[in-house]
Amino acid sequence: MDAKVYDLHCHSTASDGALSPRALVLRAHSHGVTDLALTDHDTTGGLAEAQQAAADKGVRLIPGIELSCQWQNKCLHVVGLGIDPAYPALAEATHNLQNIRLLRAEKMAEKLEKKGIAGALDAVKKAAGEGMITRSHFADFLLSQHHVNSQQDAFDRYLAKGKSAYVPTPWAELEQVLGWITGAGGVAVLAHPLRYSLTASWMRRLLDAFKQMGGQGMEVVTGHYNPDEIYTLSSYAKRFGLAGSVGSDFHSPDNQWVELGKLAALPPGVLPVWDLLGG
Ligand code: AMP
Ligand code: MN
Ligand code: MN
Ligand code: MN
Repeated sequence: MDAKVYDLHCHSTASDGALSPRALVLRAHSHGVTDLALTDHDTTGGLAEAQQAAADKGVRLIPGIELSCQWQNKCLHVVGLGIDPAYPALAEATHNLQNIRLLRAEKMAEKLEKKGIAGALDAVKKAAGEGMITRSHFADFLLSQHHVNSQQDAFDRYLAKGKSAYVPTPWAELEQVLGWITGAGGVAVLAHPLRYSLTASWMRRLLDAFKQMGGQGMEVVTGHYNPDEIYTLSSYAKRFGLAGSVGSDFHSPDNQWVELGKLAALPPGVLPVWDLLGG
């Protein structure tokens, strides 16, 4: 039997990824990925196209999503794996999220306008097309207009929490988001746990709450983590009884540091999240 190569977190043009769902699946296939989850921000809009491309290539496409939410006033991301996108509460939530993101974009564009930067709203709407408008679209716009010298610079100067174009977003509570995912038949996985700048005690509180509310997994291996971090995360996964997931969080071929399917192995002793996915 050929070895499986999993990548359970990535983005397409349905949110802030650079590749269409089809192009993403083809790239994953060419990098040896056998089991791919497409997890766009707050939308399942890319799944049908990805499913078709995956069928053409013999890749297993796991329908996914990366939902934004809040817990204790912190913004978190939860990946849902193996979801039914037609589940009514989830479909309604993603529909509402598109509107929430559009309203936020309008406010962000107003704030930029006050800083003397015009044209952001038209540009991000055009770039996002049918997909979700994200802060990454604003970063691309600011970069294209030479207001910043990198995506990171755009976040540091305008888009990050507390910066001049930041607009707080009324994300749903963690518990509700977990309900949408599990109601849709999916497995809820805490995305990139080290990206929230939590102290060890907050991390324990979060993982405990996440598990209590029905979360089943956490990302242990992502495109950015080094061996020490993977070890730390695998210890948390074992301690809190959470399955471990593996996902690159791939957004674009332009990021030379993150590639589809180029991930460390899940450390031994951690239950692989794909054991919970069936199929
Ligand atoms: P949003 O969900 O619209 O708030 O946008 C969040 C997205 O922006 C994330 O998924 C990342 O892709 C990107 N992002 C967030 N923070 C940064 C950062 N500091 N530098 C670069 N990209 C970022
Ligand atoms: Mn993103
Ligand atoms: Mn994320
Ligand atoms: Mn992501």
